[in-house]
Amino acid sequence: MSDKATQLQVEAIQQGTVIDHIPAKVGIKVLKLFEMQNSEQRVTIGLNLPSSALGAKDLLKIENVFIDPSQASKLALYAPNATVNQIEDYKVVKKLELELPKQITSVFECPNSNCITHNEPVESSFTVIQKAASIRLKCKYCEKVYAREIVTER
Ligand SMILES: [Zn+2]
Repeated sequence: MSDKATQLQVEAIQQGTVIDHIPAKVGIKVLKLFEMQNSEQRVTIGLNLPSSALGAKDLLKIENVFIDPSQASKLALYAPNATVNQIEDYKVVKKLELELPKQITSVFECPNSNCITHNEPVESSFTVIQKAASIRLKCKYCEKVYAREIVTER
């Protein structure tokens, strides 16, 4: 395989999903969110790529996988400004809008160590509160409110 062909293989995917503009350090979490670390599909990961908007960004290219609306709403909490492109035949056929869910269940742990969710067999659950640019999560059980980053970047 020539250098050029190798480069093409890394850069373009025939079919799948490209998630771009993920804040640096969050790409690996997104990968785990979609359980891609256990997948047989080819995944290309770019970490700490230069970005004019973010300074540094992460990027994921996942072959043969299309993310569903529930995954997109989880992704919105990790990376509200990420762009998600669906690729078919090497072309972008759809750009997915990320929409914040109203409620997010059993994805994040409550940062409050005294919260009942750490000792009882209950699923964590947060109400998502959005005010202007700030996104906050309110625990259903201890009712404490946290900035999005505190919950998602632990
Ligand atoms: Zn709690």
